[in-house]
Amino acid sequence: MKCSQGGNFSKGELQRFGNIELNPSAGVLNYGQGLFEGLKAYRKEDGNILLFRPEENALRMRQGAERMCMPAPTVDQFVEAVKETVLANKRWVPPPGKGSLYIRPLLMGSGAVLGLAPAPEYTFLIYVSPVGNYFKEGVAPINLIVEHELHRATPGGTGGVKTIGNYAAVLKAQSAAKAKGYSDVLYLDCVHKKYLEEVSSCNIFVVKGNVISTPAIKGTILPGITRKSIIDVARSQGFQVEERFVPVDELLDADEVFCTGTAVVVSPVGSITYKGKRVSYGVDGFGAVAQQLYSVLTRLQMGLIDDKMDWTVELS
Ligand code: PMP
Repeated sequence: MKCSQGGNFSKGELQRFGNIELNPSAGVLNYGQGLFEGLKAYRKEDGNILLFRPEENALRMRQGAERMCMPAPTVDQFVEAVKETVLANKRWVPPPGKGSLYIRPLLMGSGAVLGLAPAPEYTFLIYVSPVGNYFKEGVAPINLIVEHELHRATPGGTGGVKTIGNYAAVLKAQSAAKAKGYSDVLYLDCVHKKYLEEVSSCNIFVVKGNVISTPAIKGTILPGITRKSIIDVARSQGFQVEERFVPVDELLDADEVFCTGTAVVVSPVGSITYKGKRVSYGVDGFGAVAQQLYSVLTRLQMGLIDDKMDWTVELS
């Protein structure tokens, strides 16, 4: 789909996957005007396909577009385009229990702009790929390292929206962590350098007894759709969920820590290394709370339990 600044997106068309042409002075290439989304389609036992809360991705893209001075597709346009793309790629949706189809909507300033300004033209496209587990550990616990030099977001910046530059900002710390054998990086706030923010591509939760705490959404962390869903699932399962500033010290005596995201689903954290000190959680699998929440969420996403929340969209 294409649209000019101040205009509306017109209906797009399906195209075979391949390279796209861009003007060298496209806004996205020069000034980072780009946003993306990520969602998954699961195949049910009866062959139908389930999407999980696609309108939430549409809304988040619209909020991001406002921050990045970009026009965005309407919620209906976004959801219809996702459905159409998934149905056209139905054969790539793995069988039940064998993974999912990852869907990547992308919005970019494709028009040419030399001086710093919003691009005059925008392109919205969607591509898909079958995927398995995000971390090489699969659904086993992941090992994080707390980063205290580099930050992914600053107050007033763009950390709260899914813009491409946020991901470039994490590459250095993430690559260094992976080279040392960690699964990913846990970021702290850049003002006090003591409150948890999030991991490079997922949100974080800390469990102590019946209380599950997660950093409040305050502009520097991405409002994850899995995060929001897990908060509701956890409350419905009788847990007390607190969205607040979570000091890094709370990691030291947490019962469990886990991450949430479309790609990682619910991933238990096996250990966190902070200032050279390693804190371990659980024995050698999921902590009980992460296990319970993972089980409810994935069964919902795969259509194995009743969707009382009306979160899934079924395609046949
Ligand atoms: N934080 C960041 C930085 C992310 O990239 C993601 C993945 N979209 C998340 C959190 C989790 O968001 P969601 O649950 O919507 O996938």
